[in-house]
Amino acid sequence: MTTSTTTRTSLVLADVCLTVGDADNAVTALDHVNLTVSRGEFVAIVGPSGSGKSSLLAVAGGLTSPDSGTVQVSDHDLTQLSATRRARFRMDTIGFVFQSGNLIPALSAADQLRLVGHAGGRSVRRRARDPLELLAAVGLSAKARSRPHQLSGGERQRVGIARALYAQPTLLLVDEPTAALDRARSHEIVQLLATETRERGVATVMVTHDHDVLEHCDRVLEMVDGRLS
Ligand code: ADP
Ligand code: MG
Repeated sequence: MTTSTTTRTSLVLADVCLTVGDADNAVTALDHVNLTVSRGEFVAIVGPSGSGKSSLLAVAGGLTSPDSGTVQVSDHDLTQLSATRRARFRMDTIGFVFQSGNLIPALSAADQLRLVGHAGGRSVRRRARDPLELLAAVGLSAKARSRPHQLSGGERQRVGIARALYAQPTLLLVDEPTAALDRARSHEIVQLLATETRERGVATVMVTHDHDVLEHCDRVLEMVDGRLS
């Protein structure tokens, strides 16, 4: 790993504000949030439920547009891109691991990964990794042909992690990856995320409730009432 890959920033959130809910029930989900994450850096975000952690990931990944502030990913300002270009950019650049797994019921574990290549176009397919190797890395060699209903919650979560790594993202956004895992497996998975982050120069932001796994991270930030400290 060279210095240049670790010092280049991959994610810069500057003065980001986000309000959610309707006009009568508006909630400030993000309150003037600033965050910079470099390539090869693994940042954890902790904080109480409802404090805005998932909202932060949604904004960082261009799934939700902030009310104000800027979101830069690898020198592209997501808030300046059209919805179509933002979706394209997301496919090319960002890996998401959702809290719920977000798998497609009809597809096997291996096909959940391959679908990213089909949907993502040539630039994604060129970088695509071997689905079976990735499933092995998350401990699911034996489940490559299983569909989501044949997997436990923790196994579905691990397929989600393998899928997020498939296209070699620049930015990896991970929402509570260990919620459904036992202690040993939690360490294994977060260790894998740490290794991927460092060896491939990914910028990774992981939301977690699990203080046990913070030792694998470079930096721990706390979110309270939409503010990041
Ligand atoms: P966390 O991930 O830390 O639990 P969230 O980012 O999910 O927090 O939520 C932050 C705040 O925004 C909470 O008060 C939550 O109830 C509210 N919220 C999130 N999404 C929506 C939505 N789609 N509509 C209304 N309120 C929402
Ligand atoms: Mg959340």
